[in-house]
Amino acid sequence: MTPEAEGLRGLLFLHGRTTRAVALVERGSRLAPRLRLPARVAPGELFDVIVVGGGPAGLSAALYAARFALKVLVISEEVGGTLNNAGVIDDYIGIQDVPGPELAKRFESHIAKYGVPVLVDRVVRVERVGEHFEISSRGSGTFRAQSVIIAVGSLRRKLGVPGEDRLMGRGVSYCAPCDAPMFKGKEVAVVGGGNAALQGALLVASYASKVYLVHRRDSFRAFPVYVDLVRKNPKIELLLNSVVAEIGGTDRVEWIRVRNVLTNEEREVGVSGVVIEVGAEPPVEFLKSVGLELDEHGYVLARPGQKTNVEGVFAAGDCTGGPYKKKFDQVVTAVAEGAVAAYSAYEYLMSKRGAEAQVAR
Ligand SMILES: Cc1cc2nc3c(=O)[nH]c(=O)nc-3n(C[C@H](O)[C@H](O)[C@H](O)COP(=O)(O)OP(=O)(O)OC[C@H]3O[C@@H](n4cnc5c(N)ncnc54)[C@H](O)[C@@H]3O)c2cc1C
Repeated sequence: MTPEAEGLRGLLFLHGRTTRAVALVERGSRLAPRLRLPARVAPGELFDVIVVGGGPAGLSAALYAARFALKVLVISEEVGGTLNNAGVIDDYIGIQDVPGPELAKRFESHIAKYGVPVLVDRVVRVERVGEHFEISSRGSGTFRAQSVIIAVGSLRRKLGVPGEDRLMGRGVSYCAPCDAPMFKGKEVAVVGGGNAALQGALLVASYASKVYLVHRRDSFRAFPVYVDLVRKNPKIELLLNSVVAEIGGTDRVEWIRVRNVLTNEEREVGVSGVVIEVGAEPPVEFLKSVGLELDEHGYVLARPGQKTNVEGVFAAGDCTGGPYKKKFDQVVTAVAEGAVAAYSAYEYLMSKRGAEAQVAR
């Protein structure tokens, strides 16, 4: 079967029942007019899968779910997720130097080809009611699903200092692996004292001419091996008991103001970049209602196959953690986990339907 015929088969199944409409993003008609269907869903409607979160993980999960001919709905506060703030992406294999928002548009167009409806709204509650899950949104009512894929990402913590927002993407970075190559031959500050910050400092130092590692304490919360490597690296200067009080520059980062928290002394340090690695917070508070197990850092504990402790609920992307996860939050890993989550949801639904058919016999 050609991909288009396959897509159409999915669409016929997907949009068999539509009644009262809610606000939805209209997408993709330019790219695939033949495959476009009205983006309408009705509160209370039952889906095979509802994907919560429309970043790379959620959109990839939706694509695969649609290709498995599942009736799928994406509910997300923002389509494209963190990609919309990610600057230029040059580590997604096969697509070079693509601005994050453009890659987001490509993902969005791809699921539009399969007619997947995307509801722009915030999910405030997920709970199991009998055989199904009820997914309540802030403004568009409650939807029902046989399975749920959680892909809500995580919010990188900011420093909250003057200049940070203005210079974000202009030298201010929240992702060392994403941006390290940009700092070739430059002087850069890395902020933080955990594994991500120390790994980040080491990585940035392999490109930069000098790295200032700014940390508010005098000891690190990182694996000893990283501490040792950082201390021995001649390109890394430690600014301990210190915080960044301001980030400055006309159009790009040119300097930071560093304050010693013990003496309150301040000094200006000339840098072309500031890589902020001070942790992240997955927005998973609303999932308590469905009883999802979280890891010690507050991430959804994802098991092999992107399964969670709740049967029928799967999780993918930056919001996941736990002992089975290699934490490397990138577009490519989020997309891969989204695909696996969709496949697991498909297998779950097939085995459920198989069991129901046997009982009916
Ligand atoms: C500044 C920056 C630069 C980066 N650069 C790169 C790079 O160069 N290369 C790379 O590979 N990676 C990069 N990354 C990392 C990459 O963007 C993430 O790993 C990736 O976007 C994770 O995808 P995700 O789908 O898991 O989460 P997100 O992209 O964060 O998407 C989550 C989505 O869920 C939605 N959501 C959250 N809560 C709810 C709710 N309750 N109801 C409904 N919707 C909800 C959000 O609005 C969002 O749309 C960068 C990250 C940052 C911050």
